[in-house]
Amino acid sequence: MNPFSDRSIKAVMFVLFGVFMGAWSALTASADASELPILVIIQVSENVYSAIGATAAPSRDNFGHNNNLSFVITEGGVVVVNGGDNALLAAALHRAIKERTDKPVRYVINENGQGHAFLGNSYWSDLGVKILAQRQAIEEIKTHGEASLSQMRERMGPLVSGARVVVPDIAVDDRYVLELAGEPIELRRFGAAHSPGDLSVWLPEQRILIAGDIAFHERLLGIFPDSDVDAWIDSFDVMADLDPVIVIPGHGHPTDIETLRYFTQGYLQFLRDEIEVILDDDGDLSDAYNVDQSAYEMLDTFDELAQKNAGRMFRQMEEKLFQ
Ligand SMILES: [Zn+2]
Repeated sequence: MNPFSDRSIKAVMFVLFGVFMGAWSALTASADASELPILVIIQVSENVYSAIGATAAPSRDNFGHNNNLSFVITEGGVVVVNGGDNALLAAALHRAIKERTDKPVRYVINENGQGHAFLGNSYWSDLGVKILAQRQAIEEIKTHGEASLSQMRERMGPLVSGARVVVPDIAVDDRYVLELAGEPIELRRFGAAHSPGDLSVWLPEQRILIAGDIAFHERLLGIFPDSDVDAWIDSFDVMADLDPVIVIPGHGHPTDIETLRYFTQGYLQFLRDEIEVILDDDGDLSDAYNVDQSAYEMLDTFDELAQKNAGRMFRQMEEKLFQ
């Protein structure tokens, strides 16, 4: 695709305008005495918005807001992508939604089974909003949800005293179309990737993709023990085949697919190649830790995650050799 097509330029200008308006609203909202966190909301298109999370680990300072919480306003109601790390964040997002529309929130989608995707579900569930997630993410939430909850409680303290795990109501397999008046909203699974039950949201009429944790930039992605790196590299291609104009990644500002390919698929391929050489030479875990990853040093969370990623990828690839 020609990166300078009219469609792209228009889309990028929209995002830049949104960044400006988001920064402006953060400034003007600083006098707000409410105890809810102030979210910087970016307008991605006429009816798509995203509260861009910090490119850092979740903390009390950032209210656990370290991933993107997006929403789509339609004639038939609002669709929210991600429950958020806790009910406070969900309430802050809801306030931002109500500032932009009087349509009710109809659905909340969890991008996977990790804490920052689902721990705020309790807020939405109390309002009677239906929550959707991929089937494997629902299993994750059932199995590990309480552990995620106690980590979050430890981080946030008394701010989240009533927090509880709410398992999504509707299980999605590979594809699910939300029936709302207005444009179709498709939930898509592109294959295994970052964590069990990765789910993306595709707006085919606008060619906007809310990718979730299958796509990162601005910060280094994290490889988890349950990430499937080989599949992730392939699933990225399946996603990119949609040819989106704008992608809202799991982490980092809205951007184009090629930027995300460089920092997500490119990084995974780079690390996989490096570890392959180590394994071919009968190297060990310490060699993996010493891989020179400085080409990605400019990314946030590099210091926390680079070595950990190399170690996890080494173990995963070593295990596959002996299968
Ligand atoms: Zn994430």
